[in-house]
Amino acid sequence: MATTYPNLIDGRPIESAERAPDINPSNLHDVVGEFARGSSKDAELAIAAAKQAFPKWSRATSQERFDILDRAGTEILARKEELGRLLAREQGKPLADAIGEAGRAGAIFKFFAGEAVRLGGEKIDSVRPGVEVEITREPVGIVVAITPWNFPLAIPAWKIAPALAFGNCVIVKPAELAPASPWALVDIVQRAGLPAGVLNLVMGSGARIGALLTGSPDVDAISFTGSQEVGSSVAAAALRNGARLQLEMGGKNPLVVLDDAEIATAVSVAVNGAYFQAGQRCTASSRIIVTEGIHDRFVDGMVERMKRLVVDDALKPGTEIGPVVDQRQLDKNFEYIEIGRREGGRLVHGGERLKRETDGYYMAPAIFTDTSSEMRINREEIFGPVASVIRVKNYDEALAVANDTPFGLSSGIVTTSLRHASHFKRHAQSGLVMVNLPTAGLDYHVPFGGRKKSSYGPREQGAYAREFYTIVKTAYIAP
Ligand code: NAD
Repeated sequence: MATTYPNLIDGRPIESAERAPDINPSNLHDVVGEFARGSSKDAELAIAAAKQAFPKWSRATSQERFDILDRAGTEILARKEELGRLLAREQGKPLADAIGEAGRAGAIFKFFAGEAVRLGGEKIDSVRPGVEVEITREPVGIVVAITPWNFPLAIPAWKIAPALAFGNCVIVKPAELAPASPWALVDIVQRAGLPAGVLNLVMGSGARIGALLTGSPDVDAISFTGSQEVGSSVAAAALRNGARLQLEMGGKNPLVVLDDAEIATAVSVAVNGAYFQAGQRCTASSRIIVTEGIHDRFVDGMVERMKRLVVDDALKPGTEIGPVVDQRQLDKNFEYIEIGRREGGRLVHGGERLKRETDGYYMAPAIFTDTSSEMRINREEIFGPVASVIRVKNYDEALAVANDTPFGLSSGIVTTSLRHASHFKRHAQSGLVMVNLPTAGLDYHVPFGGRKKSSYGPREQGAYAREFYTIVKTAYIAP
C-alpha cells in the first residue's frame, strides 16, 4: 500500500475521501504516494483558517518571521539530497538537477528570512510646512499560490517564502502531477514554528480547487505560475474580485547563434537550454536562430552531441535527461513532431519514443532544421525536448526573428562580439537575457519574470518580490 498524504490546513492534516496516485514517470509501476484531492469544503476551510490567522501573523515581529524562515531554510538544506530524490522520482528530472532545485528552495528561504528584517520605508518632507510624510509597507493579506509541476519545490518556495516574510497568510494549490515535493516543503515550513492557519496546502484538481480558491472574494492576492490558457482564466477571476495578480506563464524562448560564436560554447549552451530537464522549463530555448556562416557546423555539432545524450531513469547515475512528465505531454510532443514535419521542417535527429529498462515516458530529444518563424512549431509552446533551427542572414535578421513571438520570457545570444551582445541585451523583448549562457538556469536572489504574453504583474524573487507581497501606505504627520 502506498503512503497517503492529507491536505495540510490550519496546522492539521485533513484527510480526504478522494485521492490520486503520484506516479514516477521514469517507472510507471512505482507509486510515490496517494495524495488527497481536496473538496470545496477544504478550500473554504483553508481560506477561513488563513483569515483567522492573519491579524496576529501580520503583526508578528520581523525577528519571529526571520527565525521561522531561517529554520525552514536550514532543514531544507540539510535534507536536500532526500528532497531532491523525492522530486526526481515524482517529476522525472535527473537527480543532480533535483538536488540543485532543493538547494535553491533552501537558499530562497534563507534569502527571504533576511528580507523580513531588511524591509524598510521612506521618510520625505511634505510640500507643506511642518508636515512629514512616511511611506511604509504592510502585508497584502490572504495570498493564493497556484504552482505548476515542472519546479515543484522551487516555485512553491519562491512564492511561500516572500509571502510569509512580509506577513501574509498563504494557501498553496500545487499541480496534480507533482504534489509530493510541495507537500514536503509545506510540512517543513509548518514545523519551523508557523502558527496554525498561516500556511495551508490544498491539493487536487486545478479546474475545481484552483478555480474555487482564485475565485474567492476573500482572497487579496493571487500568484500563479502555469500555462497561458489557465493564466487568463485566473486573471478574469482576480479582476472580478479586485485581487492583486501576478502571472508567470509560458515561453517560446529564442537563442541566437552568430557566425563569430565559439562552436563548442554554442552547442553546449543550446543543448542545455533546449533539452535539459526534457525541455520542460518555461525558459527553455525552443527556437535556435543561427546565422548562415555557422549554420551547418552548428547543426552538425548539435546532432553529434545529441547522439551522446543519456536519456534514462531520473534516479540512475549518469542520466542527463529524464523522461517527460506524463503520457499527455509525451503525446503532445509527438503531435508537434508531426506538425513540424507537415509544415516542411526537416527532423534531423530524435523525436522517437525510447525504451529503457523501466517502463517510462522516454523520448529522444528532437531537432528540426529548415524551419521558419511563422510555423506552428516556432509559435506555440511545446514544453518538451523539441527545438527548431531557423537560418538567418545576419544579426539584424536574427534579432527581428527572436522578437517575432507573442512571448517574452527569456532570450539568449552566443557571440564573441561585444557590440552585438550589448545591442541584443538592450533590444531583446524579454524579461531575461543571457549572453553565452543557456536561456534557462537562474539565480535565486535577482528578479525573475517576462514580458508580453509570458508574464503579468510585478516580478518574482529577489528584493523585487516585495512589490507584490506588500502594499504601500503613505502617512502624513503634523506634530
Ligand atoms: P497549468 O496551467 O496546466 O497548471 C498550473 C496550475 O494551475 C496547476 O496547479 C493547476 O492545477 C492549476 N489550474 C488548472 N486549472 C485552473 C483553474 N481553472 N483555476 C486555477 N488554477 C488552475 O500548467 P502546468 O502544466 O502545470 O505547467 C506548465 C506551464 O507552466 C507551461 O506553460 C510553462 O511555461 C509554465 N511555467 C511558467 C513559468 C514562469 O515562471 N514563467 C515557470 C514554470 C512553468
